[in-house]
Amino acid sequence: ATPMSIMVGVGRGAKEGVLIKNAEVLETMEKIDTLIVDKTGTLTEGRPRLTEIEISSNTPFNADQLLAVCAAVESYSEHPLAAAIVNGAKEKKLQLSSVERFDSITGGGVVGTVEGHSILIGNEHLLREKGIANIESMSDRAVELQNQGRTVMFAGVDGTFAGLIAVSDPVKQTSAAAIKQLHELNIKVAMLTGDNERTAKAVADQLSIDEVEAGVSPEDKHDRVKQLQSSGAIVAMAGDGINDAPALAQANVGIAMGTGTDVAIESAGVTLVKGDLNGIVKAIKLSRDTMSNIR
Ligand code: ADP
Ligand code: MG
Repeated sequence: ATPMSIMVGVGRGAKEGVLIKNAEVLETMEKIDTLIVDKTGTLTEGRPRLTEIEISSNTPFNADQLLAVCAAVESYSEHPLAAAIVNGAKEKKLQLSSVERFDSITGGGVVGTVEGHSILIGNEHLLREKGIANIESMSDRAVELQNQGRTVMFAGVDGTFAGLIAVSDPVKQTSAAAIKQLHELNIKVAMLTGDNERTAKAVADQLSIDEVEAGVSPEDKHDRVKQLQSSGAIVAMAGDGINDAPALAQANVGIAMGTGTDVAIESAGVTLVKGDLNGIVKAIKLSRDTMSNIR
């Protein structure tokens, strides 16, 4: 390989907002046959907005009151879902009470005490684990919302199921066209996400994604990349979060969204300045052009 052509390729990439770390990354990119993408912040905008808050029949709170206590607790969490709840409460001009105790369960949700009430917000699994009964009373509604691509969180107050809070995180306008082009380049596209299966499927269907795995932890993402590699795939992984970093480092080429966390960027060989998937199409074409010029 002539280093000069590769240098030119890396330079062309940089001009188009595709930052390639070194010559080896550009060379490997040509051989990629499988792309794994994270959902939140990679395929989607990553800034979820509150869309529904619905109370269960036996709760003493009305919807605004439930939103206010949940937002108070979530104001201590750094999760994007927490920001959606806090912003939703602010838009409704709700007063947030002080929080006496806060704890966060990674990949599950948050707990806190507000005005003497013990508040729990998180996924269904977490609420069941904490012994909250009667979630089934709203499960049809939850399924309906998840099938529309909403992420649904469940709330418990003083050990009793109180209602659900749904958020929507729209897909980036550029995602669908980029995936179509990746298919034309014969790249298989799979999505991995910590979110719920139905929500994940709804998003994947909108984008014609080939495979979906939901409810995966950061370690699962890393293991999945490794597993695909041992079955012979040459894997690129695209993500934006701390939770994607181990998988980005394991992939043959890690691709970070420039809009994402520093940890993701440090773990990756390619950074897409604008954080849109078209950058992956550009990188693959650039690599194929560069390598065929060399031969
Ligand atoms: P992801 O961000 O990819 O959805 P996480 O592993 O961070 O994955 O979270 C998994 C699930 O746990 C979320 O979809 C949500 O249901 C729940 N969860 C996590 N953090 C919070 C939070 N701060 N408030 C409410 N629910 C949460
Ligand atoms: Mg993400």
